[in-house]
Amino acid sequence: MDMYFCPLYSGSSGNALFCQYGSTRLLIDAGKTGRCLGEALAAIGVDPASLDGVLITHEHSEHIRGAGVLARKYRLPLYATQETWRAMADKIGRIPGDLIRTVRPGADFWLGEMGVGPFSIPHDAADPVGYRLWGGSLSVSTATDLGEFTENVYSAVRGSTLVLLESNHDPELLRANPRYSAQLKARILGDHGHLSNAACADALLRLIGAGTKHVILGHLSAENNTPTLAQRVSETAMMREDIRPGEDVELQVALRDEVSSIFRLKETD
Ligand SMILES: [Zn+2]
Ligand SMILES: [Zn+2]
Repeated sequence: MDMYFCPLYSGSSGNALFCQYGSTRLLIDAGKTGRCLGEALAAIGVDPASLDGVLITHEHSEHIRGAGVLARKYRLPLYATQETWRAMADKIGRIPGDLIRTVRPGADFWLGEMGVGPFSIPHDAADPVGYRLWGGSLSVSTATDLGEFTENVYSAVRGSTLVLLESNHDPELLRANPRYSAQLKARILGDHGHLSNAACADALLRLIGAGTKHVILGHLSAENNTPTLAQRVSETAMMREDIRPGEDVELQVALRDEVSSIFRLKETD
């Protein structure tokens, strides 16, 4: 069977990633209004009521904005760590008890036909996670909102067919940005903040060396990065290692405010 993956939104103004394997469909994060998420799903021909659940990474608003609305309107189970549940409880409204699911980093489980592996990421939230999803021999991993690409993250993600990794900012653009306070800059640059373009590129080289064939750069900063810059940093790093972007490895940038293309992964990938 094929696996489908599509970033609906990715960045500081909202995040939602769609994935399907067999008849199982789910979202990672629901960080736009319910209406926006419904429109984005409609654009790829998916009825929100056909989703099997929503996996939440952490409680920052650009990851959970529409989670409560989606869960209540379409009776979708929400999955999050216990600490994330605690931290987002007063932000997403009341969720019926039978839709509350708790995940634990390192405790893999099945959601329909898809395997789900939550793993810890270093970020300034209560108990944030990334997710690895798999079906057959295919797997997709997503890791955004992480200050550092740790060995723990590497071992959780390595070997994935497709990886969506954060390529948040260019440190020089960030440092020179007059609209950001010194405190905010320190937060973003810190080891529980966000991954820079160069750190992302380094991590991707390791992942490609371990077999990853499709790469998506995600969670780009609106002010301290551009899609062209993020792509160039990763492409340059690849070419230095004799990896040909577009030939050896597919490389794309997830769009911030509109639906990106749908990735179709085949069992032979
Ligand atoms: Zn975020
Ligand atoms: Zn965050």
